[in-house]
Amino acid sequence: MFKWQNLVLALLFATGAITFSAQPAPKPARTLVRAGHLLDVKTGHLLDAQTLVVVSDAIQSIAPSAQLPAQPGDTVIDLGGLTVLPGLIDVHTHLTGDTNFDPYHELISTDAKEAINGVVNARTTLLAGITSVRNVGAGGYTDVDLRDAINTGQIAGPHMLVSGPALGITGGHCDDDLLPFKYHSVGDGVADGIAAVQHQVRQNIKYGVDLIKICATGGVLSKGDDPQASQYTLEEMRAIVADAHRLGRKVAAHAHGSQGILWASMAGVDSVEHGSYINDEGIAELKKNGTYLVPTLYLEDWMVENGNLPPYSHKKMVEISAVAKANIKRAMEAGVKIAMGTDAAVYPHGLNAHELDVYVNQLGMAPLAALQTATINAAYLMGWSAKTGTLEPGKWADIIAVEKNPLDDVRTLQNVKFVMKAGVVYKNEAK
Ligand SMILES: [Zn+2]
Repeated sequence: MFKWQNLVLALLFATGAITFSAQPAPKPARTLVRAGHLLDVKTGHLLDAQTLVVVSDAIQSIAPSAQLPAQPGDTVIDLGGLTVLPGLIDVHTHLTGDTNFDPYHELISTDAKEAINGVVNARTTLLAGITSVRNVGAGGYTDVDLRDAINTGQIAGPHMLVSGPALGITGGHCDDDLLPFKYHSVGDGVADGIAAVQHQVRQNIKYGVDLIKICATGGVLSKGDDPQASQYTLEEMRAIVADAHRLGRKVAAHAHGSQGILWASMAGVDSVEHGSYINDEGIAELKKNGTYLVPTLYLEDWMVENGNLPPYSHKKMVEISAVAKANIKRAMEAGVKIAMGTDAAVYPHGLNAHELDVYVNQLGMAPLAALQTATINAAYLMGWSAKTGTLEPGKWADIIAVEKNPLDDVRTLQNVKFVMKAGVVYKNEAK
């Protein structure tokens, strides 16, 4: 095959069908993004009239607009009236999920339906200004194909790191518990014992996942389990983390109960998701180990107003909502590292930025610190600090714009006017 192709090329050269051009290579096309105001999410400084030069998928340079006149061939995007900042990052999404938790609806779901959900929800999420996500739990490896379809440009969506099926114990939050024994229904990521969890981690990696998601405790949207009860043992979690880290994958642990939070951090997971019943011991352990906490709090507010959960979930949601915000607030104030995650799919995709409103206006977090949870901190947790999280030369051109300075009004992030991801404009309502 190769020899045959070489022969054809040699013939084409010999006949003059291919010649080397004497012309210099054309300069790569530049896009100049003219920012009315540019927010530095590291410092909170706001600079007026700045221009970001975008070449291909990355930021090439940033300078005052007066120093960067457009050259022939440049594309100019005028965001003169807007505040420009890095695209936001949500480290806890389920893009292949939808918001219908009726048990029969769940039972008739298929991998194909979930893949279609993913195509729709990825676009919605991106247009809301979320330019990167971690997807933490999807059956049938549907999120692996979703990520790949986005990366090849087949469909629109954020940059994704995906977990595939979440690992969990038999009968736990990450199993399928709706049907009686005679149907022998088992979740895709169920694994009990050291050998089985090692096998499941390796299988998930075999089929293309970027990280490992586990269920350390019970959950809300599952039947018959207790969010406060630990599910994986410390030994099982240590085995999961050892294999995942050795093979270059981080681990995210769903954990509500205080013992599961503690054990997950002791086992070395990279992030604890939800953390609803975190106590002083857990706060100290997360701080000691540098474990990120990913609160998912806006979903409680949305559920109170709009929720239509089956009775087995409703009771648990009410109980958790009564305590989670106060516990998370104490963890935030104690200095536990926070990254923004939303659990989008439990409520409609695209409302992700409401999470930051909870941090600032309900829990008293400083607006800059809140913004950092969805930029710098989230990028760090994903291992993508060199690629995104701030607007700097060499990083992806993941750029959004909003009407106000989000440090004055964090809710302006709920109405994003401009979205560029990797140098491609997906939304421009600037005018
Ligand atoms: Zn989740």
